[in-house]
Amino acid sequence: MLKTPVYMDNHATTPCDPRVLDAMLPYFTSKFGNAASRNHSFGWEAEEAVGKARDQIAAIINAKSKEIIFTSGATESDNLAIKGVVEFYKDKGNHVITCVTEHKAVLDSCRALERLGKATVTYLPVDKYGMVDPDAVRRAITDQTVLITIMYANNEIGTIHPIREIGKIAKEREIVFHCDAVQAVGKIPVDVDKDGIDLLSMSGHKIYGPKGVGALYVRSKGPRVRLTPIIDGGGHERGMRSGTLNVTGIVGFGAACEIANHELAGEARYLTDLRNQLQAQLFERLDEIYLNGHPTERLPGNLNVSFAYVEGESLLMGINDVAVSSGSACTSATLEPSYVIRALGTDEELAHSSIRFGLGRFNTGEEVDYVAERVTREVKRLREMSPLYEMAREGIDLKSVQWKA
Ligand SMILES: *Cc1c(COP(=O)(O)O)cnc(C)c1O
Repeated sequence: MLKTPVYMDNHATTPCDPRVLDAMLPYFTSKFGNAASRNHSFGWEAEEAVGKARDQIAAIINAKSKEIIFTSGATESDNLAIKGVVEFYKDKGNHVITCVTEHKAVLDSCRALERLGKATVTYLPVDKYGMVDPDAVRRAITDQTVLITIMYANNEIGTIHPIREIGKIAKEREIVFHCDAVQAVGKIPVDVDKDGIDLLSMSGHKIYGPKGVGALYVRSKGPRVRLTPIIDGGGHERGMRSGTLNVTGIVGFGAACEIANHELAGEARYLTDLRNQLQAQLFERLDEIYLNGHPTERLPGNLNVSFAYVEGESLLMGINDVAVSSGSACTSATLEPSYVIRALGTDEELAHSSIRFGLGRFNTGEEVDYVAERVTREVKRLREMSPLYEMAREGIDLKSVQWKA
């Protein structure tokens, strides 16, 4: 029997894998030491556990353990990378290159620096599939550029950027390259050396680990990247991020990386199959539906589609035992269409009609069949009540209609 509600919003967060929880539990009670306590076994035990997690996390991106700085999550990692580099290299220049479809943690960090007069920022556009053009990155570079920050894969539309090409350009021009890889790590192969990444943000709760823990990879050699900390205190994490380490969270994050690394290839195949099954069922049963994002260069578990003549929010209300996400609302209190979908050049109506399906490790084929059926039925029901859909079916060009107030 299928259990409802069905969770299919794994880009927003993932459940903790039971194996991750098992690894964490002893560190709440018997092994509760402070990893910074140097003079007794409780401290040593905690420090050892943190060291192991550092190895597990470094391994999944082909980094060295000492290059991993623990944070409270990827929002903090993005803030530290962007603000930390701009502050440290302020005598070298003040120009930052990013892209319009970045996560708010990146965009708002850039805006904050602009507001303070500490940086000028170039926001590169994307093509209709949500991809940034490496040549546009190259052309945007000035002698003032100190940082390029482009995400690995987008959290709404799943598009995977040509990171290796951008990394090569950054290296040639000796500019620090930061990559928000939250959605990519553990889902597709990520290699900081091959990809030419100098700083990389990751998060525990997007890869079946706990919430409230993340990391920033900081390249130590070729080049050694420097940062000004945004949190001052006891000098933890090589002075880049002070504060008592969240040992339990870090242990869980490490275990999550170990599992993801081990199961990556098989899981990617599994999720690609499930996603294709969902996509095929929706596109076979419904007309006027459009894929958002790249047809092939996309995350295995991501499907983002617009159902024309249907409000995403109304659709969600009609399928309340299915947890997916709509392109509206999620970024603000007002019902604004998603800035990511808008950046593809999609018109406002279609942007309002977008739904993101985020498939994950614990979804099944049976759930996919159920969700496809629920969505299909609800879209048809809503369209039956839509005079616009009716008119479009009759061949009336809606854009030419003179509407009366
Ligand atoms: C979720 C997410 C973040 C924020 O991570 P937190 O750990 O929740 O702060 C940043 N970037 C991307 C692409 C994300 O998907």
